[in-house]
Amino acid sequence: MSDNDQTNWGTATRGVRVGAAPTPEGEHSYPIYATSSFVFESAAQAAARFGGEEPGNIYSRFTNPTVRAFGERLAAMEGGECCVATASGMSAILSTCLALLNQGDHIVAAHTLFGSTISLFNNHLSRFGVTTSYVSPTDTDAWGRAITPATRMLFVETPSNPLTEIVDLAALAEIARANDCLLVVDNCFCTPALQRPFEFGADIVIHSATKFIDGQGRCLGGAVIGDAETVGEKVFGILRTGGATMSPFNAWVFLKALETLEIRMRAHSAAAQTLAEWLEAQPAVERVYYPGLPSHPQHELARRQQPGGFGGLLSFDVKGGRDAAWKAIDATRMLSITANLGDTRTTIVHPATTTHSRISAEERARAGIGDGLVRISAGLENVEDIIADLEPGLSGK
Ligand SMILES: *Cc1c(COP(=O)(O)O)cnc(C)c1O
Repeated sequence: MSDNDQTNWGTATRGVRVGAAPTPEGEHSYPIYATSSFVFESAAQAAARFGGEEPGNIYSRFTNPTVRAFGERLAAMEGGECCVATASGMSAILSTCLALLNQGDHIVAAHTLFGSTISLFNNHLSRFGVTTSYVSPTDTDAWGRAITPATRMLFVETPSNPLTEIVDLAALAEIARANDCLLVVDNCFCTPALQRPFEFGADIVIHSATKFIDGQGRCLGGAVIGDAETVGEKVFGILRTGGATMSPFNAWVFLKALETLEIRMRAHSAAAQTLAEWLEAQPAVERVYYPGLPSHPQHELARRQQPGGFGGLLSFDVKGGRDAAWKAIDATRMLSITANLGDTRTTIVHPATTTHSRISAEERARAGIGDGLVRISAGLENVEDIIADLEPGLSGK
């Protein structure tokens, strides 16, 4: 089969088949190359490898076959040219910023980003003269207004966490292009099985592989995907020197996990949809936030932008504020009370007192994160059992 045929493959087929061509041993599952370095046939070959005239392995801080196989597969699933795999999702974001920003540059970001991303921007990049402005993810005009002559990067997650607000990626890509900025999308919640931001004009896609890509809570990892110059040279360059590299073992776990990504994401989405519809019918529940519900304000946009499904994340407001929310959480027996998400096990958390406790009550109120809000990451248990576990805490029984 020629390489050209792969361009017609769907995301699931790419996840199963791209990358990881068998070695001369003919293995069917790709091996873990547990080696720090590689040997050369001659001094001349070593020189050619180091000089970049000959492709090939040198040292696992920057070239490892298992890590490369994972990157090729994920890039193919996203429809991107190049992938650099990193030690964690945060090191993917750090490497992207170090590679592409200079002193004095400015970022415009959604105010709903993952907490450590906000901390990286506010407490660390700021020390190197990089500033960040935050805007509402859904207010497209606000993004345009926040841009200054120093702005180099627009940074978003969609859907947002925990309220599942949908960012209009095509509209942001247009603003980015008009202002000579890069649109960077953290695609952690959807994965390429549900949403492929390059199709809407994103320049860079970032992942925490720790979440849905592994999907089984085993390993930390991350990835940066983009074109050969931006990612293949610049981001790779900072990783080669800075060393926030993915380990071959973790790459092997993620490589296998990509083979089941699409069916897992479909199952997470189906469970979340059923839960959201059930929750919407409960008298104790004031409001449900899930892009798959017709009541979601951006349901139509989500339908266009996430052709693979609406995802595993949902949240809901319980009537009665914090006490009622805590009671609903504490009444569960099977669900895992944890801030983690993207696992086979359904997780439940109270954002106002955990993931979003460090921001002020006014900021939380402005972001719409009330004291009665509960977030769920739907897992792969039978959905009837998830409902049965939630029911007592919401029915007052
Ligand atoms: C968890 C997470 C990250 C960070 O990933 P790590 O692998 O924990 O470093 C980044 N972005 C989002 C949206 C996340 O949920």
